[in-house]
Amino acid sequence: MGVHNAVAELPAMKTNPKFIFFTDFDGTITLQDSNDYMTDNLGYGHEKRRQGNLDTLEDRITFRDSFRGMMDSIKTPYDQCIQFLLDGIKLDPYFAEFYTWALENNIPVVVLSGGMEPIIHALLEKLVGPTAEKMQVVGNHVAARPGKSINEEGGWEIQFRHPESGFGHDKSVELRKYSSLPESERPIMFYAGDGVSDLSAAAETDLLFAKQGHDLINYCVRENVPFTVFQHWSDILEKCKAIVERKTTVQEAAKEGFEAYKSGAAMGKITTTK
Ligand SMILES: [Mg+2]
Repeated sequence: MGVHNAVAELPAMKTNPKFIFFTDFDGTITLQDSNDYMTDNLGYGHEKRRQGNLDTLEDRITFRDSFRGMMDSIKTPYDQCIQFLLDGIKLDPYFAEFYTWALENNIPVVVLSGGMEPIIHALLEKLVGPTAEKMQVVGNHVAARPGKSINEEGGWEIQFRHPESGFGHDKSVELRKYSSLPESERPIMFYAGDGVSDLSAAAETDLLFAKQGHDLINYCVRENVPFTVFQHWSDILEKCKAIVERKTTVQEAAKEGFEAYKSGAAMGKITTTK
């Protein structure tokens, strides 16, 4: 495959950007994890879900299998699940501002998620508005169970993008399409995340924003992946502006992140997230 064909297959390369922002969705763009929220309220409940998270962290079960168990425990019709999430999930208060700035500066935003695409589209459309359709969303799918429709009781199941991967959706697959572009075309790649599934993604990008007080930071330290810490998208916006305006570099930003962690600024309550 020639270089130009490779670029044509990558929607985020259409406008020839110098930077692309890849991001996790749940717990990163949203304040609550929408899948945890569904599992806790409509599925088998908080306690069992927490145990599943811990088992995943300690490698007793793959993320994929634990997550399938959570989704299988939800019998609510799919359209009602979406409405329930629209009523309950909130976005980081600064994400919309970041997104507007990114659009104005030709920085495509690509969502890479372990969640299901129809839910992510519905939440983004409600919480960001009509420009949300410019955001590429790469996630898992939903399918009707045999003989049923997704909008009836017990009618749907999650369908993984990469069923053979323990992540269900291996985020590094999409990222590698960009990181393997020739040097002359390869944009600078940012990534924001909060959980364990973001670690495989982090290694493919130039600067990782890791959410304060969450698992991803501990993993980065353990695996020696450079990162910078964020609490809200206003932190990300500030850092990205400085980089785009050449006031700092991705290397300096990553170094600062590690120093902030060492000085304890990145600590805080450690929670278990995906
Ligand atoms: Mg997350």
